[in-house]
Amino acid sequence: MISPRVIVAGVGTMGAAACAHIARRGADVIGLERFSIGHTFGSHSGQSRAYRLAYYEHPDYVPLLRRARELWMDINERTGREVFCPVGGVYLAPHGADFVRIAHEAADTTYGQPAMTVEGLHVHIALCDTLSHNL
Ligand SMILES: Cc1cc2nc3c(=O)[nH]c(=O)nc-3n(C[C@H](O)[C@H](O)[C@H](O)COP(=O)(O)OP(=O)(O)OC[C@H]3O[C@@H](n4cnc5c(N)ncnc54)[C@H](O)[C@@H]3O)c2cc1C
Repeated sequence: MISPRVIVAGVGTMGAAACAHIARRGADVIGLERFSIGHTFGSHSGQSRAYRLAYYEHPDYVPLLRRARELWMDINERTGREVFCPVGGVYLAPHGADFVRIAHEAADTTYGQPAMTVEGLHVHIALCDTLSHNL
């Protein structure tokens, strides 16, 4: 059987993931990058990226984010390195802000993720408690 040959143009975030998944499915893949791999001129450049399930933009993203988490954990396992570091997250906003309400709904109500909304003086205690349990 002839293995399909695939060329991926650009080996940044998406291109690198595409190359890895195509190769894992048994195809010959070549990634073409105009700079070096891991260069500092792309969207992927920098020390870190945030990942969050409490996704304000729309709850429909949550299943995709869950899948992304699985794939990130798989990278941790395959490399033996903590490339993806699961930690708790905090949104701070004025009382009643849509931002927090929608993110909370996305995470908690719709998909059963542990999220909570706290206010005023309770914030400090609640955050310390939550973060110490999530680390
Ligand atoms: C400052 C900043 C902060 C961000 N923070 C977050 C965050 O917290 N969480 C999050 O999820 N996302 C974040 N993003 C978004 C995320 O980083 C990008 O969506 C993602 O990296 C885009 O991946 P990409 O493969 O499309 O682009 P890139 O990673 O830039 O890859 C494109 C690659 O294509 C190469 N290329 C382009 N043209 C050619 C060509 N003609 N021939 C060969 N190679 C070519 C480029 O050199 C580059 O390496 C952030 C982005 C930025 C800029």
